[in-house]
Amino acid sequence: MMLAIHGGEAVRGGRPWPQWPQYDAHTEQELLAALRSSRWSVSWYSPRGGKSRERLFGAAFARYNGAAHGVSVDHGSGALVIALEALGIGPGDEVIVPAMTWVAPASAVLRVGALPVLVDVDPATGCLTADHLRAAASERTKAVIVVHLACTAARIDEIAAAAHTAGLALIEDCSQSHGTRWHGRCLGTFGDIGVFSLGAAKSLAGGEAGAAITDRRDLYDRMLMLRADSRAYTETEPAPGEYELVEQATIMGANYCMSELTAAVLLDQLPRLDDQHAHRETRAKELEAGLAGIPGLAPIPVPAPVDRRAIYEYGIRFRPGTFGTASVEQVADALTAELGTRVYPPRVPLPRSPLLRPETKPRFARRWHDAADRVAGRPCPGAEHYRAHTLLMHHSVLLGEPGDVDDLLAALAKVAAHAESLTAKGTVA
Ligand SMILES: *Cc1c(COP(=O)(O)O)cnc(C)c1O
Repeated sequence: MMLAIHGGEAVRGGRPWPQWPQYDAHTEQELLAALRSSRWSVSWYSPRGGKSRERLFGAAFARYNGAAHGVSVDHGSGALVIALEALGIGPGDEVIVPAMTWVAPASAVLRVGALPVLVDVDPATGCLTADHLRAAASERTKAVIVVHLACTAARIDEIAAAAHTAGLALIEDCSQSHGTRWHGRCLGTFGDIGVFSLGAAKSLAGGEAGAAITDRRDLYDRMLMLRADSRAYTETEPAPGEYELVEQATIMGANYCMSELTAAVLLDQLPRLDDQHAHRETRAKELEAGLAGIPGLAPIPVPAPVDRRAIYEYGIRFRPGTFGTASVEQVADALTAELGTRVYPPRVPLPRSPLLRPETKPRFARRWHDAADRVAGRPCPGAEHYRAHTLLMHHSVLLGEPGDVDDLLAALAKVAAHAESLTAKGTVA
């Protein structure tokens, strides 16, 4: 049997995968209502008065996560910036950032004038551990950003304890773990602030959007001003024609506000999230039952205290040698050809990421030049191992039918059985 990447018949013959994002007539209605309200922005007024949709979403999202307060933001990146600013992080400070993540946590630290210290991760989960945290903390360290990656969670109990002992502020980046629960409690509520991207690919999608949650009233008040040019909400909700923001200005902000049209989409999407979690988990369980029958393959481990998990990217680990001498890229490309949906390796660790280029920006260049060896020079064998032995798929792949799982398993078994053809020398017949 020839692999599809070499011209053989693909496991999945063109049957489409579930579309993402998902929307229906209700989404359209909500979006149209926001459009027709003439409000469009929290900074503008409504002829009818009442709270903005971004304020309603901030509160609804906090409630969903069991947090006291929620702030709607333009992006996950913006949420990281205002979280760091609310905690008082700035020039001279250093913030621990895991080496295995999207570039935004590191660039957010640079944007507030501080330095990200790139730290190795657990090779099995790609997540920061308490041991890595303790080993990296110095007298310059002021905070930690922990990222709950892909389809698992960092050991947040141990990390929160280690951060507390070291006197460090803790930000949880839950951009890949919306609604994951640890002993029944949502991730994002264990540190000082939880931040979320609500970008189009994420498991709660608003297009370009983000949110920050906290139990601390002082941090909430600061984040409101930080994200709306020093303005906070009025005490009472606005009457027709009145503005909802008041110039409080106890801390200087910038504009990271979420559009009202985006908030309308998110208010439609949030009530769907739990059913989607359940749907994906059903498919994931079927997939995991099947993986047990393919030697060398295993799901990314999930810590036992996780009693409900979000899946942003579903990850499969393979033992060295499972696909012969083929690289993770070669295996991923072969699987993509069999399935007609993208299978891909994790991004390269941040110390060698092409996206982390502080030297190209005048604002960052000097600071980075002086410190790069120290803050980004650590070896990251855990991150490198994770990167070289993990295959990822977008969560929407798990929003379909049981037959989809059969296709995933058949493709994995086929590519494993014919892996030597991926590295064979010469032309393939
Ligand atoms: C997506 C993502 C972000 C960035 O969010 P944006 O909304 O694109 O700014 C930050 N952190 C992690 C872990 C992410 O996955």
